[in-house]
Amino acid sequence: MKKIAVLGSTGSIGTQTLEIVRNNRDLQVVALAAGSNVAKMEEQVREFHPALAVMWGEEAAGELRVRIKDTGTRVLAGMSGLLEIAVMEEMEVLVAAIVGMIGIRPTIAAIEAGKTIALANKETLVTAGHIIMPLAAQRKVSVLPVDSEHSAIFQSMQGQPGERVSKILLTASGGPFRGKKREELLDITVEDALKHPNWAMGRKITVDSSTLVNKGLEVIEAKWLFGVGPEKIQVVVHPQSIIHSMVEYADGGIMAQLGMPDMKLPIQYALFYPDRRPMEGRRVDFFELSSITFEKPDAETFRGLKMAYEAIQKGGSMPTVYNAANEKAVSLFLDRKIKFLEIYDLIQGAMEGHKIIDDPSLEEILETEAAVYEFIDAGRRL
Ligand code: NDP
Repeated sequence: MKKIAVLGSTGSIGTQTLEIVRNNRDLQVVALAAGSNVAKMEEQVREFHPALAVMWGEEAAGELRVRIKDTGTRVLAGMSGLLEIAVMEEMEVLVAAIVGMIGIRPTIAAIEAGKTIALANKETLVTAGHIIMPLAAQRKVSVLPVDSEHSAIFQSMQGQPGERVSKILLTASGGPFRGKKREELLDITVEDALKHPNWAMGRKITVDSSTLVNKGLEVIEAKWLFGVGPEKIQVVVHPQSIIHSMVEYADGGIMAQLGMPDMKLPIQYALFYPDRRPMEGRRVDFFELSSITFEKPDAETFRGLKMAYEAIQKGGSMPTVYNAANEKAVSLFLDRKIKFLEIYDLIQGAMEGHKIIDDPSLEEILETEAAVYEFIDAGRRL
């Protein structure tokens, strides 16, 4: 029996992880955590019987406690609850699938406690990769990618010596606005941005995919996961999302991982690595597909990608600023308080206004996040 905890269990990755648990009876859920969706958490507690359930807010935790008082599940709230999950004695694998920087501290605590990490929460590596990867190496802990592109890269690197990698080819669908120019993006609505052509995901990452900021975050994530410089990471637009990413080796050979766009495959791969467990689902039919195509990303229109490379090059706390400004901007966009293209303006403004901290500590990362939020709020009050 493999014992897992799922942070962000009510979300897109979280619910798909639990679907895998349903189909693999040798997985046991020992803890679940979510933000505010008490009804969904109640369903999950009743089905999976975790020892511990955590809700972010005290009020939500209180409501859950009342709803599930007939079960044996303990309920906690907030960061202390997330940190308690991270170090649970019996837990072996932490599925880190909370959205946003809130996932950093529990992930670090779990690594310190020697737990395997199945990492979906890319914002964690983007901002704290310089802390997390050395710590994981020191504690001999595996950080297994759940993001489909990074899982594809990881799968393409099995049995290959890392030093022979000459290039990572990170594929991108291009999002719902591929091919559009700036003028056509002026009046994009929230509904438009939430219509991803190939993947059904949480709201934040869906907007990030439409701006290409998601691809920017993935470039930074790849740098930390695979220890390669940004000059060796090339983004290739591949609208059909069948090739999930590729690795080119020193001899010019390229390894790729292909499959239907279904997040359950990379999640399951991380949970059972190195085994490839059977999984139901649609298979790629090359005759039906007939062609797969490739394009250069339009980094002038979709400035989010360019800004990510700039954040890596500046280094230190700059990737945190890139990420935090984006988190704030996307939440303002989803609340219909700013226009689509203003997401880029807010990220750029925050990056220009920031004085870089080299090699930031966890406290400095969290302070930088707070400072970026304040910078954006102050700018909007003017
Ligand atoms: P969702 O928005 O669907 O789900 C987010 C989850 O996090 C929910 O369970 C939510 O709870 C929970 N959550 C939010 N805030 C808190 C908090 N403060 N404390 C505890 N739990 C919280 O997101 P996704 O599943 O799409 O994405 C999760 C992460 O995985 C992101 O970092 C994303 O970039 C990454 N990822 C996602 C992919 C996808 O296909 N969805 C693909 C690759 C990476 P509640 O429901 O109660 O709000």
